[in-house]
Amino acid sequence: MGEKQLLMIPGPTAVPQSILLAGARPMINHRGPEFKAALEECTEGLKRVFQTSHDMYILTASGTGGLEAAVVNMLSPGDLVLSVSIGVFGDRFADIAETYGARVEKMDVEMGQAADAERIRARLAEDDRREIRAVLMTQNETSTGVTNDLATIGPIVREHGALLLVDGISSLVAMDCQMDAWQMDVLVAGSQKAFMIPPGLCFVAINDRAAAAMEQAKMPTFYFDLRKAQSYLKQGQTPWTPAVPQVFQLQAALKLLEKEGLKECFARHARLAKATREGVKALGLKLLADEACASNAVTAVRRPEGVAVADLRKLMTEKYGVVLAGGQRSLKDEIFRIGHLGYVGEADIIATLGLLGLGLKELGVGVDPAAGVQAAVNSLGG
Ligand SMILES: *Cc1c(COP(=O)(O)O)cnc(C)c1O
Repeated sequence: MGEKQLLMIPGPTAVPQSILLAGARPMINHRGPEFKAALEECTEGLKRVFQTSHDMYILTASGTGGLEAAVVNMLSPGDLVLSVSIGVFGDRFADIAETYGARVEKMDVEMGQAADAERIRARLAEDDRREIRAVLMTQNETSTGVTNDLATIGPIVREHGALLLVDGISSLVAMDCQMDAWQMDVLVAGSQKAFMIPPGLCFVAINDRAAAAMEQAKMPTFYFDLRKAQSYLKQGQTPWTPAVPQVFQLQAALKLLEKEGLKECFARHARLAKATREGVKALGLKLLADEACASNAVTAVRRPEGVAVADLRKLMTEKYGVVLAGGQRSLKDEIFRIGHLGYVGEADIIATLGLLGLGLKELGVGVDPAAGVQAAVNSLGG
């Protein structure tokens, strides 16, 4: 197979050629007019994608850096924070807050389930002294392939008055995420998921409530200080040297997204996710997530009995050039994950399911290897 690979993991994702080429340019002065124009164009484009009219900062870091920026710019040591985690990435958000001295209260949810809006409402209603400063949530939990209903949860948090800090790293562009309408105060995304850009940038949007909170926040920060980002952005710059190629690539990605249309992009992800789920089920496999909250960005699949996840992934990569993700932490040997976000189309899904069928058969699973393709084709054509 050589270099040819179908990269079906939930980030980093495949990068279209036009975006790759956009990064292959000579360096420019990051404090000159050309970079200023690119930064300003990207900032405005990202606001449209986040569906916000508020402030947007482009930081040079992976997604986790964006989560750290959200925490340290909004909170002070000792603040009580409610972490509604539905998996590994939700836990990471809580760990960052804890590291910087927040008191973190965890509302744990069973792996594979979405957060329960009524439980959140009830917990916030108990907080009559309004001690909870912020609620931390993940829109799309990449470790389990579950999407939270933030359209419902956002207004519940706003009614209490706590800040709602949202990890949208694997959800932005793969599914609808209306920062302003759903009343999120801080929303974070990253370049290497559905944006189709290599790793290196994260995007942090903050509304007026968050901007006001930032003035009071006392957690220590230097690199991720958004007040510095704010003052530099006024001059069309970033405080530190940015990942210049990725900013050019972001410009190109935003053009591609605008050409496709946001709604069409969400619909494509939904269509491909559904076909993936139908195909996987037709191969006799079980999904981790309830279909009601199943993600349009990534599908988590329980391993078939008698097959080790590591063996399946190894066979798929080495023989067929299809790269699948494994599970994380307690799900490590229990599930594998198919990423279908970003630069994906029908061809990727059909090929993945067909080759997965062959791989399963080879590992001794009694299944019609073509059943997944048939179900996916029916789903796409139906
Ligand atoms: C990928 C991901 C992250 C972490 O991003 P890094 O870029 O690896 O730092 C955080 N949250 C979610 C939901 C993710 O999918």
